[in-house]
Amino acid sequence: MHPLHDQSAFADLFNEFSELAQAHLENLDEAKTSFPATKVPDEKLSASGIGALSTFERFKKDYHPLMTASPGPRYYGFVVGGATPAALIGDWLTSLYDQNTLTATGPGDISGNIEIATINLMLQLFGLPSDFHGGFVSGATMSNFTCLATARQWAGKKQGIDIAREGLKQSSITIISATPHSSAVKCLSMLGIGSTQFIQIPLLKGRESADINAMKEILSKTKGPVILISSGGTVNTVDFDDMQSISELKKQYDFWWHVDAAFGGFASCSPKYNHLLSGWENADSISIDCHKWMNVPYDSAVFFTKKIHETIQRAVFQHSNAPYLGNPEEKFGYLNFLPESSRRFRALPAWFALHAYGADGFRQIVENNITQARSLGEKLERSGEFILAAPVLLNVVCFSVKDKQQDAAYMKEFVAALTVRGKVFMTPTVYNGMYSIRAAFVNWRTTEKDVDITLQELKEVKTLMTSS
Ligand SMILES: *Cc1c(COP(=O)(O)O)cnc(C)c1O
Repeated sequence: MHPLHDQSAFADLFNEFSELAQAHLENLDEAKTSFPATKVPDEKLSASGIGALSTFERFKKDYHPLMTASPGPRYYGFVVGGATPAALIGDWLTSLYDQNTLTATGPGDISGNIEIATINLMLQLFGLPSDFHGGFVSGATMSNFTCLATARQWAGKKQGIDIAREGLKQSSITIISATPHSSAVKCLSMLGIGSTQFIQIPLLKGRESADINAMKEILSKTKGPVILISSGGTVNTVDFDDMQSISELKKQYDFWWHVDAAFGGFASCSPKYNHLLSGWENADSISIDCHKWMNVPYDSAVFFTKKIHETIQRAVFQHSNAPYLGNPEEKFGYLNFLPESSRRFRALPAWFALHAYGADGFRQIVENNITQARSLGEKLERSGEFILAAPVLLNVVCFSVKDKQQDAAYMKEFVAALTVRGKVFMTPTVYNGMYSIRAAFVNWRTTEKDVDITLQELKEVKTLMTSS
């Protein structure tokens, strides 16, 4: 029998998988955070196939040992979250059921309706009103894309141009932003607007946040539609644009307000930090990642857009020439609401996590991570061996080795030496003219003990560098 027809393979695979998964998860706290670059040899396609179980064994032997502990407690690179038990099970079930979540509210499968329910739960988690709706996409890049494509349609409409149908034509769209994330800039490229075609709003002194007076001046001088890309947490210092003031400006000026709150949006889960976002309920669109601070496995993010913009959003994303997909004008469905057509039941992991841990669970993750980041920041400063490149505003520590902050080669070597040891993982950055290292705390597994291990590692690497 050809292995393709062996339905009984499932039972053995599940047993093998269950054993591997348990061992892997139990070991995650100790597993290595990086491995040296390993080449995967050119492989020859098997003519007959070796069967699922043999393939599993082969993967387990060759590649399983090289999977990093990126969902572990001391992986602080980029902004990489882990996966809570509930989210992980939801993710596995997503593959088990293998629904194609295209539609909602009609006959067919229920997954689209569960997605709508999940969006409503998320709005509650963030304290956002129900005049938003939204959907799941693969990451905040695609979430920014969905929101900005809708904004572009809005801007075109103001000038009598249906950009979705006619293209950009003679439209004039002014994009303004203080510290846009690189993915938002990439979206401008993908949208045919151009990645250099935005006005940089001057920053407050020593900050990554927009100078509101300068923003006001730009708004008052600009003719034609404006799209503001604001930050609900920048990646270097987790700085926030002043949402309250932007709300006020929105009463005076007509602009599309987008908030990129990929991870910083989670500050709203804590009464200690939710003031950073207060006012964002007046935005037109918001991007949030679930695979960062929500600790849902890759790849998962949501966008929220105001329901009043539904018609223009559908104008952008509708399938208008496919009778077999139904009439896009008719009822709400994800098929005509976001970039993808066929898509997995991506809401399920988030649905699991929201029910399993509730508002309080996410408040705890957020507050713990912020406490840990501040603690690392204090300990680094107190050590006398490191300096902060910026104050720890929330959950990211941006720091450098004392007296080496101008030494690009040293700092590069330092990060490389740290990475090779595989105990903690951080990524380099340049901030405020300093060659720095970023440590982003977004993992539910991280504890104060990890902060101490991290400090110890950094000190040991510094000693190594001195003696070499
Ligand atoms: C991570 C991030 C993005 C991009 O998100 P992806 O999930 O990587 O697509 C956008 N904006 C901000 C502020 C981010 O931190």
